[in-house]
Amino acid sequence: MDLNPWVLTAIAGGVAVAAPAARRRLELSAAKHRSLAGHPRISRWLAALIPNYEYDEHEFFRSDGAEPALAEQRRQGLQRLGAALAAKYPAGDTLNSAAEGGISDLQFINRNRVPFQYRGIVRAQLKGTAFLQSSSGVTLTDVDGNQSYDLAGSYGVNLLGYDFYKACIDRGIARVRELGPVLGAYHPVVADNVARLKRISGLDEVSFHMSGTEAVMQAVRLARYHSGRTHVVRFCGAYHGWWGDVQPGIGNPIPADTTYTLKDMDDATLRVLSRRKDIACVLVNPLQALHPNSAAPGDSTLVNSARSARFDQSAYRSWLERLRAVCTERGIPLIFDEVFVGFRLAPGGAQEYFGVRADLVTYGKTLGGGLPVGVVCGRASLMRRFDEDKPADVCFARGTFNAHPYVMASMNEFLVALEEQPELRALYAGLDDTWNRRAEVLNARLREAQVPVRVRNLATIWTVCYQQPSRYNWMLQFYLRAHGLTLSWVGTGRFIFSLNYSEHDFEEVMQRIVGAARDMATDGWWTTPPGLTNRAIQRKVLREMVRARIGLPPVNAAASPRTAAPLAAGAAAPCDRA
Ligand code: PMP
Repeated sequence: MDLNPWVLTAIAGGVAVAAPAARRRLELSAAKHRSLAGHPRISRWLAALIPNYEYDEHEFFRSDGAEPALAEQRRQGLQRLGAALAAKYPAGDTLNSAAEGGISDLQFINRNRVPFQYRGIVRAQLKGTAFLQSSSGVTLTDVDGNQSYDLAGSYGVNLLGYDFYKACIDRGIARVRELGPVLGAYHPVVADNVARLKRISGLDEVSFHMSGTEAVMQAVRLARYHSGRTHVVRFCGAYHGWWGDVQPGIGNPIPADTTYTLKDMDDATLRVLSRRKDIACVLVNPLQALHPNSAAPGDSTLVNSARSARFDQSAYRSWLERLRAVCTERGIPLIFDEVFVGFRLAPGGAQEYFGVRADLVTYGKTLGGGLPVGVVCGRASLMRRFDEDKPADVCFARGTFNAHPYVMASMNEFLVALEEQPELRALYAGLDDTWNRRAEVLNARLREAQVPVRVRNLATIWTVCYQQPSRYNWMLQFYLRAHGLTLSWVGTGRFIFSLNYSEHDFEEVMQRIVGAARDMATDGWWTTPPGLTNRAIQRKVLREMVRARIGLPPVNAAASPRTAAPLAAGAAAPCDRA
């Protein structure tokens, strides 16, 4: 059959029109990380399919196929640890139990401290508290009077020590008390903050917000307004607050259709940026340098020992330089989200530390001097919220509590100290050397103690990695707690140190970490049955999920003899819990 030349021409024309679009689509696919973190839509869909099931007292100790003697060793270890924690937190645990029902956030974090299969028994056996009474130096004191070293760092707010922030807040409030909580107008201290922030960021203008999430929302909205484009590029695994557009995966109930989640440190991403015309901005969280393309590590997802992290400053710097170049070439605003790392790596933040400038920078956390805040600094052309030629075309971004006098005064105390206190500047001198050395010494001690645990760090931001396949790494958080260390709800996923940790304090922390790991090894949690691999663990968990989905018990529980002695009174089987 002969095709009409007009038809052929039409097909050829169609292909010619479609080819660039198809190529752009393929380029976009190539720039997605192959992990689930690179596919937020699929990960949300899969998450909805995972059924709940929990191990009973038998399977809890044998989920890696341990022999009965090892399971018994673990059972006794759990009982000892449980008794130690119960004795430590009588008042704290009572308060926790009474308050949990009314605090949604506490319910959420208490459910997400360990992989869900182990949750019921852990919650029944291993007590703790979220209630604290005081802070001092690098320590915290809970409602039972236990003093512990703080490795949680108030989600990163605590950079310079709690006493420093208490003083910022007290002095700040004293300075603005006469004005009080008057909003809408500015206390004069705001002008000084703006001058200092412009100097620190190297940018032209500043806007004040109430949280890091809001600062990111504002930066992205401005980039969209000025570029006239729709899509936000974020990197695989990067956290930018809980706003929907920057949290396209699990956690956000609706799809974020105008967000591209692309591979960090990858040429395919640069290709996408250099070709697409719909990209409004690129968001970078420099913390990802510690674990590119992976989400922030937390112990609830520590199903095996696959967690990895390694910071390579020069590789990340050269990535940022290349990113900067393509953004400049294509007129795409580059946003550094320094809510976490700002002021933690260098007084001038990640821009100074990596030697790369952004068009917009968001700050938060420590900048409020201990009070809640979010800040955007940016080039004047991007910060303007109106169009001179179109009076009705504005970019709205206001908020009741923006530039609250108390927050502004406390922030000013922080900024003045940062710029003018020599002893504080001195803390930054050799910061990397100090914290890298501390990590090395701790790793040497862990090696000597023959425990399969190592730390990795980006300055004062640390994570724990595990050297041999295991299903029980998440238990370490409870041994650490028993040894007097306070962690955040992500457990060993992240330790955050403040710069005021002395050598003596750090020595104490090292001894406690090594002691905790030793105890955990003694109790048999890292004694691995032969042939266990991370892949084998993954496969087993997957099999269990499929079985649970169709109503069958976990694999081993069905197959092996049930010889474990019952746990002590108070240990409820998962199905007994309300
Ligand atoms: N961006 C980054 C990089 C963050 O680390 C965080 C908080 N962890 C946020 C944004 C959100 O800040 P906030 O919790 O103050 O809303």
